[in-house]
Amino acid sequence: MTTKKPHFRFDCSGCRDLERQLDKARSAKDWDKFNELDLKRKEHLQRVEPDLKQSKQKAIRMYRSGVTLSELAEKMGVSLVKMREIFKEWGEPRRRRERVSYSPSAKEKMVSDYRAGVSAHEIARRYGGSHTTVLKRLREWGVPMRSRSEAGMAGRYRDC
Ligand SMILES: [Zn+2]
Repeated sequence: MTTKKPHFRFDCSGCRDLERQLDKARSAKDWDKFNELDLKRKEHLQRVEPDLKQSKQKAIRMYRSGVTLSELAEKMGVSLVKMREIFKEWGEPRRRRERVSYSPSAKEKMVSDYRAGVSAHEIARRYGGSHTTVLKRLREWGVPMRSRSEAGMAGRYRDC
């Protein structure tokens, strides 16, 4: 029987290092590298057990500051289902799904940013919400979605 090491992901240098590399690959749109690193991360997480007790305070703080449950699950290396269970156990009330509202001027900027090739992640960072909210809203506004290759092209001159 193998015992897994307890693991506090927020403080694990291995995780942090992998995440840094993943971010780099993501912004470079180097999906081969990204997948390779993602696999490495999965292997790493299989060897360790999330240390939920230690993560609790930080997780709750992040959640209260607006991080979504699925983002937290990803950060802690557990499934979303597990994350929901954990929150129930902790007695942390779940946020009601609030519809993020964007002002007309934010909307205008979001659309032009997206058309200029800014990623949904970056748009979410600038104007609020999650990247899925941003994409959903852009679709509602009738903005044509970029194909993956277009997104890749855009990513390459995003910082120009
Ligand atoms: Zn780790």
